[in-house]
Amino acid sequence: MRVVYSPLHLGHELRLQTIMGVQVPADEVAGRAERIRAALEADGGFEIVEPTQHGEAPITAVHDPGLLAFLRDAWPAARRAGHRHDFLVPETIASVLAYEGMSDAFRREPPSIGGRAGYRALDTSTPIVAGTYAAARAAVDAALTATDLVLGGEPAAYGLCRPPGHHAARSMYGGFCYFNNAAIAAQAIAERTGEHVSILDVDYHHGNGTEQIFWRRGDVLYVSLHAHPDRQYPYFLGWPEETGEGPGVGANLNIPLPAGLSNEGYLEALDRGLDRIAAEPGSVMVVSLGFDTFGQDPIGDFALTTDVYHEVGRRSAAVGKRLVVLQEGGYHLPSLGDNARAWLRGAEGRPYDPQPAAGYTPGGTRA
Ligand SMILES: [Zn+2]
Repeated sequence: MRVVYSPLHLGHELRLQTIMGVQVPADEVAGRAERIRAALEADGGFEIVEPTQHGEAPITAVHDPGLLAFLRDAWPAARRAGHRHDFLVPETIASVLAYEGMSDAFRREPPSIGGRAGYRALDTSTPIVAGTYAAARAAVDAALTATDLVLGGEPAAYGLCRPPGHHAARSMYGGFCYFNNAAIAAQAIAERTGEHVSILDVDYHHGNGTEQIFWRRGDVLYVSLHAHPDRQYPYFLGWPEETGEGPGVGANLNIPLPAGLSNEGYLEALDRGLDRIAAEPGSVMVVSLGFDTFGQDPIGDFALTTDVYHEVGRRSAAVGKRLVVLQEGGYHLPSLGDNARAWLRGAEGRPYDPQPAAGYTPGGTRA
């Protein structure tokens, strides 16, 4: 399988994030993608290729041009404004409740860069640094290059996207995400094939951005397995009653899951999601692939082990659609490479062959 990777992600260098008011070491670090790239190179069965540039049009096909303009301008504007830190994080965030009872005319992007950052932000854990825009554009190009490979006839391709994308909505960034790589890929597939497209989101978190972007679309099916939002980020979306509206009624399936979930429980939920996708027309499935479902993940609370990713990859491919697989989350650095390798080998029909990082078991615990 081809793996689309760009070194431009290294410029999106994060050291700190603010979560619940506390500044802590960043989870979404460059080492994530580097671990995965190294494990896939060591496997010998993957070919690493660089993305080709696809321009802005595929991005603004799903995102507000204002989000693109903001992300492009944010860091230079922060510098011009004399911003004192080496990252930009908003001070205030435009809650929907701030405008309660007021007409939409008052919901407008303010002129200052600090104000713009908060107008478009979901949270304070998604800093913008000097290399963020170039990295986010390269992640989109990786997703679109993987799409090109699959539409060109390959049964599957993997975009090693960093930063991830599924929390980014039409006009909003957040959850470590800036552009929604999976949504951009799905839209490109829908435009170029004229077919329905299915998105399987197996990141630990609900992909609120992907759900929102395709909420009223009947031609793009979104199926997500995720930690129940009654206890986990993003809290406000990801509930089972969210099934789409208008032409999109029935084209959104949320499967929220409990803490401590086992491999067996996960595979049962997966089969439910895959049954829905198998019933959908269209020859291509986009996979939002996260490994924060792993038992040792510092953010998640599921109990999955590396071998189950091989089975998830195998069952996903067995649906019979071609796969555009795009990296989302996953933060247990020592296991990320082997988990990605297991998933992709399963999708290719190659045997499970665990190669845990030195000093670790396939369960992710210290040997
Ligand atoms: Zn996640």
